[in-house]
Amino acid sequence: MPIQVTLISFTEDPIRSLYMAYRTCYSTLTPQQVLARVEDERISREQMVQFITERLKTGHASPLEQVSFEFGISGVSRAFSHQFVRHRVGISFEQQSQRYVTYKEGEFPYTVPETVRKAGMEGQMAELFDRVGELYEEMVAAGVPAEDARFLLPNATNTNFKITVNFQSLLHICDLRLCTRAQWEFRKVAALMRAEVMKVCPELGRYLQPKCGEFRLGYCDESEKDWAACPIGRVRPHKDALFRLYDAHRRGELAPLRDEDWAVIEDAELADTAPTADA
Ligand SMILES: Cc1cc2nc3c(=O)[nH]c(=O)nc-3n(C[C@H](O)[C@H](O)[C@H](O)COP(=O)(O)OP(=O)(O)OC[C@H]3O[C@@H](n4cnc5c(N)ncnc54)[C@H](O)[C@@H]3O)c2cc1C
Repeated sequence: MPIQVTLISFTEDPIRSLYMAYRTCYSTLTPQQVLARVEDERISREQMVQFITERLKTGHASPLEQVSFEFGISGVSRAFSHQFVRHRVGISFEQQSQRYVTYKEGEFPYTVPETVRKAGMEGQMAELFDRVGELYEEMVAAGVPAEDARFLLPNATNTNFKITVNFQSLLHICDLRLCTRAQWEFRKVAALMRAEVMKVCPELGRYLQPKCGEFRLGYCDESEKDWAACPIGRVRPHKDALFRLYDAHRRGELAPLRDEDWAVIEDAELADTAPTADA
């Protein structure tokens, strides 16, 4: 069963909502007066986006809780769902029940990881799960309730969600779960949620990045070993490297410019090729 993520609904006009939330904090105008200016277009959409962009560079994050998104998520594994529901703040979950839903004829949908497929072990997994399904069915037929027969079911069993998440929490989830250290299935779900938000509000969707993204921390705060192993590490500095640079600067230990560097700087021909401020 493929993973599907669908944006069901979201705050009406997220840009206006966020603008009004921030503007109310920083203005002598009442929210009603701000709204009137938005509605008669004395404040343009570009101005709202510009204002929000500046606020997003600060630590003033609570207005982001005023914008929310509802998603339908299907075809994910219980291995994924155990991780998903660890997020406690700014997100509400409804998940398909294994108590109230009984799998008919012991047939339960499940996810086969690509690594299992590549190892040529999909068939063995299917055989084992067929046997699990048979026993599940026998138990249900013997009067064992679904809530107990499910003790047989594997982590691979599929499940479905309907969730509501506010933008602040979605940013946090993407910080952690778009990181290459997160599990592949969670990365996929987070990427699909991002893609859905991008379709309706790219001005906000672009902020949904792994924490090392240019709109988030901009550097990696995982271990240096993990950073070295990450393919994105090549274009993102590690925090320790930044501190080492800062310490060296503070101690006056930055490598001095060398004669050859000065030669480059003073090279008259370079002026023809170097980009200028106007370029
Ligand atoms: C790569 C990776 C590996 C992981 N490995 C494991 C593992 O091996 N075992 C395991 O058990 N979990 C693991 N986790 C799950 C992790 O420990 C968190 O439970 C999960 O990522 C939810 O994150 P959160 O607490 O930041 O999010 P949320 O619960 O959504 O919290 C959002 C923010 O609110 C803060 N917050 C929430 N509740 C409180 C509170 N009561 N007091 C103070 N601050 C609060 C959080 O610190 C966070 O900043 C892993 C997560 C990742 C990304």
